[in-house]
Amino acid sequence: MLWEAEAGIYLVRQPLPFALDHVNCYIVTGSGCWDVIDAGLNTEATWKGWERAVRELGLDWSSLRAIFVTHYHPDHYGAAGWLQEKSGAPVYMLPRGKEDAYKVWVEGYNFVDDLKTLFLSHGVPEELLEKIIRTSEASLFLVHPAPQVKVVEEGARVLLGSGSYTALWTPGHADGHLCLYGPHNGVLFAGDHLLPTITSNISYWPGAYPNPLGDFLQSLGKIKDLAVKKVLPAHGKPFEGAKERIEELFQHHRRRLQLMADLASGKSAFEISKEVFGTDLSLHEIRFAISETLAHLIFLEEKGAVRSESREGIIRYQKTGDLPLSF
Ligand SMILES: [Zn+2]
Repeated sequence: MLWEAEAGIYLVRQPLPFALDHVNCYIVTGSGCWDVIDAGLNTEATWKGWERAVRELGLDWSSLRAIFVTHYHPDHYGAAGWLQEKSGAPVYMLPRGKEDAYKVWVEGYNFVDDLKTLFLSHGVPEELLEKIIRTSEASLFLVHPAPQVKVVEEGARVLLGSGSYTALWTPGHADGHLCLYGPHNGVLFAGDHLLPTITSNISYWPGAYPNPLGDFLQSLGKIKDLAVKKVLPAHGKPFEGAKERIEELFQHHRRRLQLMADLASGKSAFEISKEVFGTDLSLHEIRFAISETLAHLIFLEEKGAVRSESREGIIRYQKTGDLPLSF
């Protein structure tokens, strides 16, 4: 599916074989060339989607100037190598984004062992953990060929079509997450940082920055200060009202932090996650529920609202005072 989201900016909706069934990629045209933001999952359906879009818009593969990838997750980065092979265009990511992508997709870091140690220490029963691990194998999304990635620095001005955009570093959902903002048209290519109806998954993973929720809230603050007119997200529909949406997300996380702090009465992160997210979840959902709970508990501990203590090899959380929430 393809439609013009803004003058010269086309949304290419690419399919995903998950509950979240699509990812939005974008084509920006102008000055006799075109640029891409996010590549989609590396599947035949995605390749066909790109070929169809290029045909319908009457574009030429050789005039694809640059491919920007917001972050290393497979639904954004996956087909970047394919696009690069097809066009010869450079692929750009922020320095930390490039590092993440290299670690996961080139070096093949599979955090399964680290995840096991982490989850065991947070009270996940071994039998459940084995099942979770079996669904976590990264090899499901082999990225071949991996693209050659160039670095775009935070704050750099880049051309998309004929407009100049600023590269913004917005860690939280992923450490090296990139947004692109056009001061001339108020357009924000938001990736997974700011979504219209679902909340971005903010999870603590082994090897990532230590306080992802803290990073995410700070990154949202960065966007709130800009004169954003239209958000072009990676999932859902383009929308206006970035400031209101950011305020909703602040409220969502404030409520969730309060709830988790109240539940912290000597419980493990696993026990707290069950109370917050329920137990009727798929293995994939359980994994994310625990990691998202951890991100909130880490934030609370950093703020001095809970304290963690390891007893018999399991980390337990205890509320220590009121929640000093200043966001
Ligand atoms: Zn993502």
